[in-house]
Amino acid sequence: MNNTEFYDRLGVSKDASQDEIKKAYRKMSKKYHPDINKEAGAEQKYKDIQEAYETLSDSQKRASYDQFGAAGAQGGFGGGGFSGFDGAGFGGFEDIFSSFFGGGGASRNSNAPRQGDDLQYRINLKFEEAIFGVEKEVSYNRETTCRTCTGSGAKPGTSPVTCGRCHGAGVINVDTQTPLGMMRRQVTCDVCHGRGKEIKEPCHICHGTGHEKQAHTVTVKVPAGVETGQKIRLSGQGEAGFNGGPYGDLFVVIQVQASDKFDREGTTIYYKLNLNFVQAALGDTVHVPTVHGDVDLMIPEGTQTGKKFRLKGKGAPSLRNGVVGDQYVTINVVTPTNLNDQQKAALKEFAAAGNIAVQPQKKGFFDKVKDAFDDL
Ligand SMILES: [Zn+2]
Ligand SMILES: [Zn+2]
Repeated sequence: MNNTEFYDRLGVSKDASQDEIKKAYRKMSKKYHPDINKEAGAEQKYKDIQEAYETLSDSQKRASYDQFGAAGAQGGFGGGGFSGFDGAGFGGFEDIFSSFFGGGGASRNSNAPRQGDDLQYRINLKFEEAIFGVEKEVSYNRETTCRTCTGSGAKPGTSPVTCGRCHGAGVINVDTQTPLGMMRRQVTCDVCHGRGKEIKEPCHICHGTGHEKQAHTVTVKVPAGVETGQKIRLSGQGEAGFNGGPYGDLFVVIQVQASDKFDREGTTIYYKLNLNFVQAALGDTVHVPTVHGDVDLMIPEGTQTGKKFRLKGKGAPSLRNGVVGDQYVTINVVTPTNLNDQQKAALKEFAAAGNIAVQPQKKGFFDKVKDAFDDL
């Protein structure tokens, strides 16, 4: 697994020394401290920086992170404390880590507090919204702590009691006869389903689960410069936890609509400008649309199809540092059709006025390769 996210958050390379990490952390946490930085998203960034530093500043956690990613760095140390990527869905790592670090024991204690599930929500942004950022309200249904029993699962006025079958352990031992002899396995208790507690009179709203579906609305601050496929994490906006564990997170997945005018790659915006051959031959000043408003572009005499012009600072901002990219305008010279007699006569006169023959061109392979690079 190639995990660089925590390094990216601190702006250091993967082989940074502890000293460099500490310095970067000090700088970044000063920059995004909620008391200092009032910008949208600063608080989340601050939290992300803390999370990254907690892992990278500890050489053992860092080593596990490098090898197994966020789940690894946390799984081996009991998780908790962090808001993201905790436990759920990464069960396999826990086993690996309990054997590496001798912690935990082999079976997962299912009545321990556990974070709720993460949710994904896809939002559709207009081309310009992705470039300039936008605030969106998103509404969805999620499992929340049942309001009637406050999550206990028991009818109000009653309490869950310790499970009589597993005596609160949540697991029971089952002996099975196999060709190799008697095997003892631990399985989830079938009476309490791992909770360790038995509910004699279940809550009539949640039927003992402690959860109920509720409509939920959050405001997502989409930063300027996002692209399709990127995710925004909203801590604690996922589903309710189990046994008093924290809520999961909401991942808002960005989907950007195509524009009928522009193409975009990262911070660069591309625009194709059609010119008639008179404009291309004589030169002209034309209005070119950009997401920042129209600009005047000077077309020099003798401009050919494929010629590119750069409009500096008319692209999209970088999500990382806010630096705005450029817009490239590619010229397409359109040959006129349906000329009237007068136009045809004028063109014939034009042709007779001087040598307009196009130089024959034969291109070698390397010229073509070079052209391909010039186009980039
Ligand atoms: Zn309930
Ligand atoms: Zn039980």
